[in-house]
Amino acid sequence: MIYETNSPDETFEIGRKLGQSAKAGQIICLNGDLGVGKTVFTQGFASGLGIKECVNSPTFTIVQIYEEGRIPLYHFDVYRIGDPEEMYELGYEDYFFGEGVCLIEWSKLISELIPDNASTVLIEKNLEKGLDYRKITVE
Ligand code: ADP
Ligand code: MG
Repeated sequence: MIYETNSPDETFEIGRKLGQSAKAGQIICLNGDLGVGKTVFTQGFASGLGIKECVNSPTFTIVQIYEEGRIPLYHFDVYRIGDPEEMYELGYEDYFFGEGVCLIEWSKLISELIPDNASTVLIEKNLEKGLDYRKITVE
């Protein structure tokens, strides 16, 4: 499925729709360059789950847990991970195979740990189509 957006609000809205239909046990891999809109998408996704608290990229921790929504959200940002071994240290399996939905920014940095049945979301710019244009591919 391919979506095209021309503002942060539209990207938020696509995240929100996917959040509304997210199911426990789902793992969503979120990739795309720095500043492309992964966090905007995540904020929409969280809103779709019914999470009201502010969601940002977890800068100092690899995973941030939000439990106030319909199902728990485990928001990973693995950008700063040095070694996939760090994922074992934080007990990632409890989240990947847990009661909630996982959203993993920069999942490609830990690709060997991602289960085959994970969903993927790729966000890309195309400057020929304008600064605020984003192509969002959901698989
Ligand atoms: P990332 O998490 O991928 O590093 P962010 O979500 O933090 O990126 O930032 C995306 C930036 O791009 C924000 O400043 C946002 O306002 C801007 N932006 C412009 N157009 C769009 C769009 N169509 N979708 C999402 N973000 C957009
Ligand atoms: Mg981010």
